[in-house]
Amino acid sequence: MLTASDLPLSVALQLAEQGWFVLPVCWPDPDGLCACPRGHIQKNSGKAPLTTHADKDATTDRAVIEGWWAEWPSANVGVALASSGLVAIDCDSLEAIQEASGLGLVPTVCRMSQWPAYIYLAKDDTPLIRLVHWGKSNKIDLLANGYLVVHGKHQSGREIYLEGDDIALLPPWVSNALHSKVETTVEIPEVANDAPPVVLSAIGGDIWYGRAAVDSEDGRVRAIEQVSAIDRSETLFQLGIKLSKANASYHTIVDALAERDEALGYDKYTDRKDELEYHRIAEKVGQSSYNLTSDIRDHPPEVRLPSYNAGDLKRQALSDPSPALTMLPFLGQLESSPFILGAAHLLSAYPKAGKTELLCRLVSEWCTLGYKVRYFSEESMRIWQARLKLANSEFDDVTIVDALGAGRHLIVADIGRSDSDVIVIDTMKLLMMENENDNGQINMALTPLVAACRASDKTLVIAHHTRKGGGLGGEAAAGGYQFFGGVDVGLELERVGQPTNRRKLHGQGRILDVPELLYERSNDGSFSFLGYSDQLAPQAIATHLDQVLTEDFQTTNKLRLVLPAPQPSTDQVSKVLREMAEEKSVERLPPLSKGNKPGATYKWRRAT
Ligand SMILES: [Zn+2]
Repeated sequence: MLTASDLPLSVALQLAEQGWFVLPVCWPDPDGLCACPRGHIQKNSGKAPLTTHADKDATTDRAVIEGWWAEWPSANVGVALASSGLVAIDCDSLEAIQEASGLGLVPTVCRMSQWPAYIYLAKDDTPLIRLVHWGKSNKIDLLANGYLVVHGKHQSGREIYLEGDDIALLPPWVSNALHSKVETTVEIPEVANDAPPVVLSAIGGDIWYGRAAVDSEDGRVRAIEQVSAIDRSETLFQLGIKLSKANASYHTIVDALAERDEALGYDKYTDRKDELEYHRIAEKVGQSSYNLTSDIRDHPPEVRLPSYNAGDLKRQALSDPSPALTMLPFLGQLESSPFILGAAHLLSAYPKAGKTELLCRLVSEWCTLGYKVRYFSEESMRIWQARLKLANSEFDDVTIVDALGAGRHLIVADIGRSDSDVIVIDTMKLLMMENENDNGQINMALTPLVAACRASDKTLVIAHHTRKGGGLGGEAAAGGYQFFGGVDVGLELERVGQPTNRRKLHGQGRILDVPELLYERSNDGSFSFLGYSDQLAPQAIATHLDQVLTEDFQTTNKLRLVLPAPQPSTDQVSKVLREMAEEKSVERLPPLSKGNKPGATYKWRRAT
């Protein structure tokens, strides 16, 4: 006969002698907090196993048991159910006890604690199910696997001990319940008040109700009794996955995670008012499926999209004396700028072609005109400090947002809240698309962004990398065509041979043509607009050379330097001069008849 005052070691040895497999378990301090060296969270104090593999380490070996309690003399005593051939009916409410009594509780050995657990001998064919929630109340816990704490101290301060000597055979209703559980693996909880918003899988339901969690020791989901320490963020993440798999929409997942985090007492992120972590989880778990069914189902009531009469729009536009489109300047150029106020732009470029440098220069230019800029960046603030240190302009109305890993939902939400005039997304990678070649996915990522900006009249500029090969009309933008189709203005930034700091910006707009613009970045970091690339066509260079050639011989470079902007490269000038010499409108020194020598300096004059 055991009593509450028996020492844990003595109880463990006696139980082992009768064939029960025992293991040492955490014990609580007088405040109910974990007193064992593992440092368990409060929820697990007095319950978590001290051995690495919980009930799998349980033993009847006297020497092992003595070793454990020599190390932890106060450890609570647990009994592994399956290996000991036991099933427990754990009732942790009055309602559960009453319901179980109604179903039939044959007198047996009872584990006394805050609530009693009735221990029975399993039959040979009893399914070794860890945990079944049973009864109309769903609160009768049937345990046929895992372990039960049978002796020591509960975190509430109550004694835990075994009462009764004669163990009875498992009542048939319990056996039937366990068998029925094997046949129907998917259980839909009948509980309504804190039921999940979607029908979860069995394990999803267990995580939802806090009956299972991720063990921080090995990152695996297991029944709460078996978890040594709950990894709360990973548990919420797993719950997010289960919700996503059950087709919960993004917002449903965010709300459910916030609610469960609090309801289950994890309180992992509840003190963070912005719910950022719930959004992060929902973002991550939603990546592989777009939850179309709930997107279709979740219609907000009384939806009416903004609509306008086209005739009215035309009359308004005609009566407005200001131009239909307002441009944002491009390196001091207003009329030929490809940036339209309030429109969506895609700027694609080869990696390291200097698109961030150009954008940086442009946003500074725009904010000196009074526009507020919000710049979503994937780079660290350290990199930004280095870049801004080099830039010789003002940035007081430019806000840099560290958006790496935030995902498009957070970015769109942030845009909705901001009062900026210009939004820069640098780069498209921030939208975290799984497949940049999937036009459907591009549409899903791009459209909410464009819509968020349009709704509040913001100008949007998205930077994107260019795939190799380039091409006109958007073929250069890496990924699916929808990248280009989803915006109002598509721009491509290219290097243009010599000099190496020269760039060409070209592209297409919905209602305006973008001229090919040339600009240069000087060594001091400043940018200068050079002009239009058609000004560098051989015919245009020849026309300009014709104006600067004289009857005296001049070097190629001297001629080049007096040409009007955009200044062609030395190569371009040499080539045009040679063609002019072949046509006899120009003379060369030494003459063409002497052939070409690499590195030679040639002089030219108007033919006489
Ligand atoms: Zn502990």
